[in-house]
Parts: sequence; C-alpha cells; structure tokens
Amino acid sequence: MIAYLERFVHGNDVESRQADEEDDCSSLCDALDLQGSIDCVATGLAGKDFGGVYSFKPLGFVKPANSDDVARVVKAALRSSNLTVAARGNGHSINGQAMADRGLVMDMRSMEDHFQVVRINGTPYADVSGGALWEDVLKRCVLDFGLAPRSWTDYLSLTVGGTLSNAGVSGQAFRYGPQTSNVAELEVVTGKGDIIICSEAQNPQLFFAALGGLGQFGIITRAKVELQPAPDKVRWIRVVYTEFEEFSRDAELLVTRQENDSFDYVEGFVFLNSDDPSNGWPSVPLDPQQAPFDPSRIPATAGSVLYCLEVALHYRDTDHPSTVDAVVNRLLGRLGFLRHLKFEMDLNYMEFLLRVKQAEEHAKANGDWDAPHPWLNLFVSKSDIADFDRHVFKNILKGGVGGPMLIYPLTRSMWDTRTSVVIPKDENDEIFYIVALLRFTAYPKGPSVEKMVAQNHEIIKCCINKGFDFKLYLPHYSSQEEWKAHFGNQWTRFVERKASFDPLAILAPGQKIFSRIH
Ligand code: FAD
Repeated sequence: MIAYLERFVHGNDVESRQADEEDDCSSLCDALDLQGSIDCVATGLAGKDFGGVYSFKPLGFVKPANSDDVARVVKAALRSSNLTVAARGNGHSINGQAMADRGLVMDMRSMEDHFQVVRINGTPYADVSGGALWEDVLKRCVLDFGLAPRSWTDYLSLTVGGTLSNAGVSGQAFRYGPQTSNVAELEVVTGKGDIIICSEAQNPQLFFAALGGLGQFGIITRAKVELQPAPDKVRWIRVVYTEFEEFSRDAELLVTRQENDSFDYVEGFVFLNSDDPSNGWPSVPLDPQQAPFDPSRIPATAGSVLYCLEVALHYRDTDHPSTVDAVVNRLLGRLGFLRHLKFEMDLNYMEFLLRVKQAEEHAKANGDWDAPHPWLNLFVSKSDIADFDRHVFKNILKGGVGGPMLIYPLTRSMWDTRTSVVIPKDENDEIFYIVALLRFTAYPKGPSVEKMVAQNHEIIKCCINKGFDFKLYLPHYSSQEEWKAHFGNQWTRFVERKASFDPLAILAPGQKIFSRIH
C-alpha cells in the first residue's frame, strides 16, 4: 500500500499524474475496506469552500460511515510519507482551511447520523455527530425534546465539529460563552489514529486542545452539547445610534447585567448613513412588511456611519403580551438610542435562530452566495475599540463592505483559557469585541477580490501600526512566524499539543500552521 501512497507526489505531466492519482486513490479505497466510500474522481466540492478564493484538488474525498472509518483513513496516512487528511464540515471556511492539496478530504457530513439526549447530573446534553449541521441539531432538540443548545452561531448550516474547531460565536456568547464553552465531552480521532473520549475529567489535554484547535489535534466525531429548555418565542429588536460611544456603552451595559435584567441576545452592526442597499438604511428594518427606515429621523449632525444595536428577548407562549412589553420597555428604557428609529418583530424561536437562512436564499437567487467572500473577522480589545471605529469604520470602510459589518461585545470570563482559542491579551478588561466584515458583493457588482483582500490587509496593518490589542478570529496566515505571533504566549502549548496528538502533522493541512513530517 505504501508504494502507491508514495507515488502520488512524483508524477510529471498533468494527465498521467491525474491518472496515477486516480489509480492510487482507488487502490487505497480497496485496501482500507471502509464501511463508507472514497470518491476519487468527482472531488469538486472537496476542493472548494465558501470563501471562493482558494481551490486545491485533493487525492480523494472520503465519505466515512463512522469513527472507525475516520481512524482507518488517518492510520493509512500515517503509514505513508506524504499524505495529509482534512476533515471537511460544511466547507464554510473562507481561506481553504478544510482543504488538503493532494491529500484526503473527509466529508464529515456523511458520518452516520448520531443523535441522543443524555443527562449528566440532571443537565441535558445533545450527543451528536461532529458532522451534524447545527440547524438539524436545533430542529431535533426543539421539536422532539423542547430543549435547545444555549450558544449559537448566526448561521446554522455549519457543522458541530467545524464551529467547535474555531469557537462558535453569536449574540448569546456574552452569557454562555462561545460554543466551545458549552461542551461536556468529545469523541476525537487523533492524528495517531486513536479514537479517544475526552472531557474536563477524562483526557483533558486532548479535550481542551481540540476545542478551538483549528482541526490540528484530532477529528471531532461526536460532541455532547449542553441544552436548556427552549423558549417558544422571541421579540427581536433593532435600535439606531449616531454615536459609537453611546452604542458601545449601551451594548456593554446589556452584556454585563444579570440574566433577569437583560436581553437574551445582544449583537450590533455598523451601517452607512445612505440609501446603499446592502450597507445603508435599507439594511436595518427587520420585516419588509413594516414601515421602512425613515432617514428624516436622523439628526443633521450625524456622520457618514451609524450604529445598530440588535437585541432579542425570549418568552413563552403563555406570557401575556403586556408582560413581554413591560420587560422590553424596562430594558430599552435605559438605553440612549434614537427614539423614533426602533424596529421590532415577534417570531418563533426556531425562526429566529434560522433567520440567516432567508438571507441565504436571497443571496443564492441573486448570485451573491456563490461569489467569492474574502471575509475578515477580528477580536478587538475594549480599550482599542473606539479607535478601531474611528480608523477602520469611519475611514477605511466608510464605503461599506457590500454586506454586514458586525460589531458586538463579548465577555472574557466566559472563555475557557484552557482551550486553544486565542482572544486579545488584556486580561484586565472583561469585555472585548468581535468585528465581522461579511463581504458579499464581489466583482462585477462590487470591487475585485484582490481589492477586497487588499483592504483586509490594510485593516490588519492599521491595527498593528496603531498598536491595537487584537486577534484574528477564523485566522488565516501563510507563514509559521505569523502563526507564532498570533498565538503569542500560547504558541509553546500549541506546539506541544501538536507533538502529542498529531506528531506527523497529518491533520488540517489547509490551516498552513505545520508542514507534514515525512
Ligand atoms: P469547515 O469549513 O468545513 O472546516 C473548518 C475547519 O475545521 C477546517 O480546518 C476543518 O479541517 C476543521 N474541521 C471541520 N470539521 C471538523 C471536525 N469534525 N473535527 C475537527 N476539525 C474539523 N462563525 C461564528 O463563530 N459565528 C457566526 O455567526 C458565523 N456565521 C457564519 C456565517 C456564514 C454564512 C459562514 C460561511 C460562516 C460563518 N461562521 C460563523 C464561520 C464558521 O463558524 C466557520 O467557518 C466554521 O469553520 C464553518 O464550519 P464548517 O462546518 O463549514 O467547517
């Protein structure tokens, strides 16, 4: 077997190399005797991602049926001198992170559907496959059990293993932490091909390494995700500010209040003081049936960018509407938004969590979903966020990004420092911000990909030059030096974890952190 695993790197002319590779892959498939299968020819999806910027053709697209299949594939790669393995969740990375150039890509969504609700010391957990989509976890938990995970992402066609390998952040993270803070146990196939159950009490090193581990230490094949009773309904509200200081003060107030004295979801975004369809006034109203944004309500003194605070309150069908109104009015009463620019709607809890699905359908219909998405996500410390606003939103991005520009506060104490996730350094500040520049409008409707990528670099450069305390979220670098700087004083621990769990650097080569050891 090793002979054909070796051969795939040596071919010269493209056609004979491709033929060799298909032969190698087919022989590998026979030798592995998987319950699942390997696709050696139509590997198209495995070489693409949502970012649409990078594309690498793999040797094969493995469809594992279960954890044993995953382990067999990793062990085969271990026996070769060159082969790498990338778990692919739903391929919603931006920079080729789930790809393996001439390696094996593992389609985690093809794994056997595993779903069970279990109780540990009375607390319910969903025991789910690493390849499960969060939207399916939501539906099963709510419809069959009246329960739901506590911490989400905004968009749910992402896999459990994919978001747990990063962090998983949305408007609930201020209260419950990222998704990585809401998991009790994982089953992981390490880069040594071992199938290991891990938790805070059992194999904790692997557990914390894998959470936020960018796929570097193992492939998450199962996770136990904490649940809570699902609310029935949600009041979803957007309010508008002209001044960043007032917007951030109110957002910070909401994320630091007690649970019964705040909203259940807090996010925000920057928008343009213009009629720009994707970044201006029309991006604020929640429901097209309701009154549109009335720009005459904006004071003449307002600048070219405005701020929208987005909040939501959970409630039960049995709650009287006047009770919900009273709670909302009390919570909003403390805030300093422009009183006549408030948008709200009531919807079912599942509809609320699936709200981006509608935007997806719209973007698919007009071609924006399949266009390139050179997104940039950052965590910025509270102490630098006002300067960030001034230099980045009010200056570099004053023309918008052709899509949402999210900005909202997160609470540091909800992030477990034992995981591999990296956040800004300043430990004295409980608050730091996530900034997400979700570019949707590419050439020919908008700027070229090169221009958008150059603007991302300009923003990063600006943060470095100004000495901001920031980290990239969903990071992407091309040299180990940059990775070292990204991890800072966590680099040594990251390298030690790699040596323990994936010593030959087989896993997640698309992150470009370590090179395969031959
Ligand atoms: P993939 O892109 O397939 O994989 C990501 C990385 O994880 C790769 O390195 C891969 O090798 C590794 N990996 C995948 N599965 C596993 C596994 N089972 N075990 C180990 N490693 C694995 N993020 C947020 O935090 N909050 C948001 O609100 C949010 N919204 C988004 C909206 C959209 C439209 C998109 C495209 C992305 C969004 N993201 C958000 C980012 C998203 O969380 C990450 O890109 C995530 O990695 C995507 O999950 P995936 O299943 O597609 O993973």
